[in-house]
Amino acid sequence: MTGGISGGGSGGISGGASGGISGSAAAARGSAGAVGGTPAVRGTAGGVAPGAGVNLLALRSHNAALVLDLLRTAGPSGISRLELAERTGLTPQAVSKITARLRADGLAAEAGRRASTGGKPRTVLRLVPEAGHAVGLHLDRDELTAVLCDLTGAVVAERSARLGLGAGAEAVVEGAVGEVESLTAGVASVLGVGVALPGPLDHARGVLHRVTGFPEWDGFPLRDALAGRLGVPVVVDKDTNAAALGVAVGGGGSAGSASAGSAGAVGGSFAYLHLGTGLGAGLVIGGGVHRGARTGAGEFGHQVIQLDGPVCGCGNRGCIEVLCLDAVGRGAVEEAARVLGAGAANLVGLLDIDLVLLGGRTVAAHQEAFVRGVGAVLEERALREGVASVVPVRVAPGGARGVAEGAAQLLLAPLFGRGEG
Ligand SMILES: [Zn+2]
Repeated sequence: MTGGISGGGSGGISGGASGGISGSAAAARGSAGAVGGTPAVRGTAGGVAPGAGVNLLALRSHNAALVLDLLRTAGPSGISRLELAERTGLTPQAVSKITARLRADGLAAEAGRRASTGGKPRTVLRLVPEAGHAVGLHLDRDELTAVLCDLTGAVVAERSARLGLGAGAEAVVEGAVGEVESLTAGVASVLGVGVALPGPLDHARGVLHRVTGFPEWDGFPLRDALAGRLGVPVVVDKDTNAAALGVAVGGGGSAGSASAGSAGAVGGSFAYLHLGTGLGAGLVIGGGVHRGARTGAGEFGHQVIQLDGPVCGCGNRGCIEVLCLDAVGRGAVEEAARVLGAGAANLVGLLDIDLVLLGGRTVAAHQEAFVRGVGAVLEERALREGVASVVPVRVAPGGARGVAEGAAQLLLAPLFGRGEG
């Protein structure tokens, strides 16, 4: 790994807490596989966008992120400085300093006044959702979906195109750039683009590995190729991690439940199993996406569960993915659900997670059968082991757009101190 690229364990946009946008540009310069020159990053000091873009990514102090997250979760009705101090444990002076800066930057605004016991009415502050935007780009095997999200993660614009990974790097980069430029035309406060696609890949460097079925992508520096063309920071992650992040943060339209820390967020530890044209998992442990030392965690689909099983696209035999997809191909959905259930039960046994979420288009086509089948296997396993409570299985919130929305959170979540494992 080249120096300066990785930010500790988190990978993310750039170098750790201090990183911000300029660190990202430095990382692109230092990276071996950079395509073209280093982009002039929109929104850096002295750059284009007034207000948000500049300060948002420079803002990465832990305390500011805490305050910003409380403003986000408070919604349009807002929250007072006193409550912010109580909830963060910061002094009122520190909160005043942070909120003054957020207001000067256009990120927070007054949401009115609220009566308080005894003293004068308190000013209530709210997040300004339109102060910053991020693009979430979902590159799937046969289509492309792009969403523009505001700071709350709500989708404000959307585009899609029939352009899949099979079209090759040049065509996909070209197509993606076109879609992103159309989506962000006239939008000043673009923080960057989060890209989600099937793994395996190197999240920290933004370089693809051998995507099953598309070996020609192996080694392609997608992050730098897109950043070079778009001139904004780009973060690349697996589709499964992006979807899991979206669920963990609970942006825009997501409707999670469980032990929610914020509106719609699913708290604790869970596995998001994505069965579409492939099978993978996004793992959230203690509220953060678990990516592992080489950012390769979650290669759930290629766990071998039948040694003499059919040959999989990855070269192994009897992977969960090939067994699942073969069964679906034969119309044996219940069998596919039980195979997925066996894999899910292994995961639950290994990680002791709170919840299993199912997503992806193959699940979407047979939701009830998959939830029931996977749930039945988990229940059988729990009964045999004498475990008192069975881990629940649900369809992931977010629907078909869940991966793209989660991809936008690759840029947004760090602003609020969220989702980093
Ligand atoms: Zn395989």
